[in-house]
Amino acid sequence: MDVLNGQQKSPDRSLCEDMSNAKKRYDEWIEQHRAKGLDLDEALKGSLAKSDDPLAKICLVADWGSIPSQTLPFEDQIRVAKEIREKRNILGPLMSLKEDWLQNHQLMRNAVEEIKKTELLKPHGAKANNLSFASKFLHWCVSPSFPIFDSYSLAAMKKMSRKEFSANPSSSKYESRWDWYASEWTDGIRDLINDHRQCCLMKSQQEGEGLVRTIDKVLWQMGKDMKPKRGGNRSNKKDT
Ligand SMILES: [Zn+2]
Repeated sequence: MDVLNGQQKSPDRSLCEDMSNAKKRYDEWIEQHRAKGLDLDEALKGSLAKSDDPLAKICLVADWGSIPSQTLPFEDQIRVAKEIREKRNILGPLMSLKEDWLQNHQLMRNAVEEIKKTELLKPHGAKANNLSFASKFLHWCVSPSFPIFDSYSLAAMKKMSRKEFSANPSSSKYESRWDWYASEWTDGIRDLINDHRQCCLMKSQQEGEGLVRTIDKVLWQMGKDMKPKRGGNRSNKKDT
């Protein structure tokens, strides 16, 4: 919208309104859940995460995201935790990933090339696409600059994206899902953030958080409103 400031694109004002309203509804929702001690960020900073035990973090992230137990069985959670411990040399440096990748996408592609050297996504017993879990782990436990992918954010992204957004990662072989994440998904997130940075996102941004966190809140809320009974419900299952 800031044509006078030299920006070329003029974001759809109704989208800005939808996004701002979604962020407000998210804030209201998280406030209720924070009161019940269910906010993941606080849980991760709390007692379980103090041990820096990957398994404790995985269990927290999986439960917070309500990853169905059949898609990431406990045996797989243990296997992933073992993998994270063994591949600290690969995952550790990725903790320094910053939102610079929004301007230089090669930084994200390089990061994903490193992740592909791990078996974080290897399904073993898992039946479904656990990119949802893997992206949540990366976002919460490695760097918040990694965008979360899940069914809610996918539904919202398909609605919001200014380009055709038709790829379905679950139809890909698991080896190519990281490629899909590094291209289709993060391209979409980058474009959305860059289009709405000035007009609405920075106004919704909370102190101390990056815009990748802000857009996640917006997309999650919009996706949840679009498909309330399906997908990754980021609250305690028993509570909703
Ligand atoms: Zn906007």
